[in-house]
Amino acid sequence: MQAHITLGRLFGVQIGLHYTWLLIALLLLVSLAGHWQAMHATWGQGLVWALATGTALLFFAALIAHELAHAVVARARGLPVRSITLFALGGVAHIEREATDAHTEFWMGVAGLLMSALIGGLCLGLAWALGWPVWTEPETPLLAMLVWLGYINSALALFNMLPGFPMDGGRVLRAIVWWVTGNAARATRIATRTGQVVAFGLIVLGLLRFLGGAGFGGLWITFIGWFLLSAARASYAEMELRESLRGVRVGEVMTRDCPLVDGHTTLQTFVEDTLLRTGQRCFLVAEEGALAGLLTLHEVKAVDRARWPSTLVAEVMRPLAQLRTVTPETPVTEALEMLGHDDINQVPVVAHRRLVGMLSRDHILRYLLTRAELHM
Ligand SMILES: [Zn+2]
Repeated sequence: MQAHITLGRLFGVQIGLHYTWLLIALLLLVSLAGHWQAMHATWGQGLVWALATGTALLFFAALIAHELAHAVVARARGLPVRSITLFALGGVAHIEREATDAHTEFWMGVAGLLMSALIGGLCLGLAWALGWPVWTEPETPLLAMLVWLGYINSALALFNMLPGFPMDGGRVLRAIVWWVTGNAARATRIATRTGQVVAFGLIVLGLLRFLGGAGFGGLWITFIGWFLLSAARASYAEMELRESLRGVRVGEVMTRDCPLVDGHTTLQTFVEDTLLRTGQRCFLVAEEGALAGLLTLHEVKAVDRARWPSTLVAEVMRPLAQLRTVTPETPVTEALEMLGHDDINQVPVVAHRRLVGMLSRDHILRYLLTRAELHM
């Protein structure tokens, strides 16, 4: 979930919006204004729209607070948090690593739930203290805002208590199973399976409500269920991948024969004589016999074809100093996280300051396919 609009930083975490969020903000605004216009004919247009805008903005702040709660706990437990993105169905906190112990997982899940429950409770409590008779339609604009925010945040907390991954309740369930059994993989399997059951239930419920005449609201539940189903599937697949790579070191997967190119070669010669002939996509560049950098298809494509005969490989390569490296002892899962985080396809493997091989996503994939074929 990549943010299209960056809003800024809060507690060192970048906050952004996915464009689908704008659509929902608009829908929310229109439906809030419509509701209040219907319930309170005496409230002027200006008041209703200002109230709807203010309420939508506060709801948006409450969603960020929910994700920040996850993020703050994650960081306090040593897991770096990259960003928070709000999209059509809520928010996501991008945490760079998975929790390594059940307690961290538990508190990370619970923090979001508690934050939403706290905000919901505070809003409803405040409305009550200001004279709102509980369960009635609020009479003043301020009460209307507080009560709506109270309901929606409580609903958010309740919904997130559903014990299926990737909802917060699923995280908590995973943490508890992990803690009791001591087996993280089994805990993920159970939590994601439950997540699929919950998601499937939501899809059916939404369809039934839609057929029963609930209209858009019913379809909405179906849509959320469908999203959760695919998210649960994705986390299951990711877990399986991590499981099958457990204990595997970079040295077992990397390739040792890396094509070497001389830095003084022109791009034209390189493309014709080396790139097209070998079919490889990544090359090491040597200058005066020493390793100087890395050249991939990406760097070649960035140069205009007309300039290939006059451009040297050394001018466009990624210099050694800028490259991230791994060692043969690095766990493959860790290397894979690095590839994902830096959005690169390969990384040089270095031991005792000497290049010993290359690791790419392709190598990892081929390794997995071979093992799968051999039923290992
Ligand atoms: Zn959450």
